[in-house]
Amino acid sequence: METNKKLVIAIDGPGAAGKSTVAKLVAKKLNLTYIDTGAMYRSLGLYALRNNIEVTDVDGLVNALNKIDIYLDQQGRVFLNGEDVSLEIRGEAVTRVASPVSAPRPVREILVKKQQELAHKSENGVVMDGRDIGTVVLTDANLKIYQIASSAVRAKRRYEENLKKGITTPLEQIEKEIAHRDYLDMNKGYGSLKKAEDAIELDTSDMSIEEVVNFIYNKALELM
Ligand code: C5P
Repeated sequence: METNKKLVIAIDGPGAAGKSTVAKLVAKKLNLTYIDTGAMYRSLGLYALRNNIEVTDVDGLVNALNKIDIYLDQQGRVFLNGEDVSLEIRGEAVTRVASPVSAPRPVREILVKKQQELAHKSENGVVMDGRDIGTVVLTDANLKIYQIASSAVRAKRRYEENLKKGITTPLEQIEKEIAHRDYLDMNKGYGSLKKAEDAIELDTSDMSIEEVVNFIYNKALELM
């Protein structure tokens, strides 16, 4: 698509609502840069796990952030100090620590700044997904989507996604973990998960990926 306008699309919502899948496809359709902010918090979580930094050690996490380089490529791969960690950051151990490491404000401030720089640098515009994109990171985004789905649907989607990767965590356990992560994400103070006032809430429980992508794509077209 040819356009002169720099489009900025923010997609927020709870974990396992399918934001990344959708954001990636929308970015491709509109030729925008896709930025997965969850992957950044996950990479920090992985670094903390590997280097025995407690999730409550704020200075340790901030120090770590000053040492590490997190790079996201346009194929959706994630590199931590040059190492491809795309698969490892999706594992259970990292998923468990990603929310607590993302809670301290000093940690968030460093990564929010990095996210804003990435958005600023992109030439065509961005699709960025996370929890606080519409409320903190890109408050002047042209289009803000708050993508939700019932916890039962999210657990089922994650369960099926896991099976494809050979991960066999029981559905009930995934549902419990999702509920726990929702609680943490909504109660971390600065950068908590919440709908921006000017966001469109999209309940995707009964929608296919294609329907969600087309909905956002059509909304974006209206802005051009
Ligand atoms: O989106 P994803 O599940 O990969 O994010 C991993 C964790 O990172 C989330 O549970 C959330 O706590 C945190 N996160 C955040 N702010 C963002 C993106 C993710 O706090 N913008």
